[in-house]
Amino acid sequence: MNIPRTSFPRIVIIGGGFAGVALAKKLSKQEVQVVLLDKNNYHTFQPLLYQVSTGGLEPDSIAYPIRKILKDFPNFYFRLADVEEIDIDKNKVKTNIGKLKFDYLVVASGSTTNFFGNTEVEKHSMAMKTIPQSLNLRSLILENFEEALLTSDLNERNALMNFVIVGGGPTGVELAGALAEIKKGILPKDYPDLDTRLAQIHIIQSSDCILKGMSEKASSKAEDFLEKLGVNIWKNVRVTNYDGKTVTTNTDLTFETATVVWAAGVKGATIKGLDAEDFVTRGNRLTVNEFNQVKGFKNIFAIGDIACMASDEFPYGHPMMAQPAIQQGDQLGDNILELIENKPMKSFSYKDKGSMATIGRNKAVVDLKNVRFQGVFAWFVWMFVHLFFLIGFRNRMVVFVNWVYNYVRFDREARLIIRPFKNKLKH
Ligand SMILES: Cc1cc2nc3c(=O)[nH]c(=O)nc-3n(C[C@H](O)[C@H](O)[C@H](O)COP(=O)(O)OP(=O)(O)OC[C@H]3O[C@@H](n4cnc5c(N)ncnc54)[C@H](O)[C@@H]3O)c2cc1C
Repeated sequence: MNIPRTSFPRIVIIGGGFAGVALAKKLSKQEVQVVLLDKNNYHTFQPLLYQVSTGGLEPDSIAYPIRKILKDFPNFYFRLADVEEIDIDKNKVKTNIGKLKFDYLVVASGSTTNFFGNTEVEKHSMAMKTIPQSLNLRSLILENFEEALLTSDLNERNALMNFVIVGGGPTGVELAGALAEIKKGILPKDYPDLDTRLAQIHIIQSSDCILKGMSEKASSKAEDFLEKLGVNIWKNVRVTNYDGKTVTTNTDLTFETATVVWAAGVKGATIKGLDAEDFVTRGNRLTVNEFNQVKGFKNIFAIGDIACMASDEFPYGHPMMAQPAIQQGDQLGDNILELIENKPMKSFSYKDKGSMATIGRNKAVVDLKNVRFQGVFAWFVWMFVHLFFLIGFRNRMVVFVNWVYNYVRFDREARLIIRPFKNKLKH
């Protein structure tokens, strides 16, 4: 991998997401050698993926080169590498570009879409966890409209314009709101010869409310906003299968559709060698102690989505969100330095800064620690927070300008089929 051996201890970080980047930033001015490995050369701001999928933002504005984030740090090395295995006996990682020994290893590999073992659903539905997946979804949505325009078969046209989102969490809600705005603002302009009333957007939620992790008020208000936008919400309904044409559920409800977006859950992205039952717990996450040390190890840590730190307050680990990932990365930076100096480490304590979701133009719900609000002000807060946490001045500017433009013009100019996605109804 062409990384020199120095007298400094070598800390290998797998993953340049929120957790890995926070840790690398913390460590890179210290007397340690930091090697960050990621299969992408960019950091992805996942909370805005749905805007890429719906043509509101270009993908480049929510991605940032990892090398640039850490360019000023002398002992920092980035390698574009897919980590295939962790050799826990020899303290080595095996990657597609070679092997590397570590003194300390931090797994920050995040999570992947959880289809709960349903391979048929996995084969036919769309995930939205990465930029390429979001671009696939964007192409599919637009290709569906183009095909709907051509077909004379009404059932096929309905299926092409029927969008089913499985999961009523923030991702499902935000995507449904954006699709509803496309239906209202873009379709009539782009496809004047298509009966755009046929476009239906459905959210299927297995429990009795959407935005389950948020307050009752936020959940009911979001539902209200979505219903006003024409989104159909099906609660207490669980998807049992999707064969590429029909969604079946545990009730009599079925949906004929060419597009199913699976936003019903994620699971830890474990890596071979550290994926045995001894280390892995609920949600395929690695069991860690209060210092983020993986169960049974002193020098192997896990942070962010992949880590499950169970406590009385969080019996199933912290929520798989950006804030726990950032805070764990930040704190582990201090703790590793303490460990190197044989000093006691500090237990991690999560500072919950609240949660929020946007449903569309002027519509958002915000739950902070002591205050909850919804509507226009919440929408401005949502925008400000997302701009603040985006990495890179250019990205912030581009996103801000896009949002202003979209707001003023009721538009989404990135509705481009750059890389066509094979239409599943036809092939
Ligand atoms: C659509 C969507 C919307 C979201 N919205 C919100 C939101 O509004 N608010 C919020 O707080 N959270 C949100 N989240 C969740 C949030 O993005 C995650 O909790 C957060 O990204 C976790 O950070 P992480 O560093 O653990 O993992 P990630 O950010 O996922 O980073 C993991 C990194 O590891 C790399 N990697 C994985 N495996 C390997 C390997 N084997 N070899 C090399 N590299 C590897 C990946 O390429 C990636 O760069 C959203 C997530 C999604 C998908």
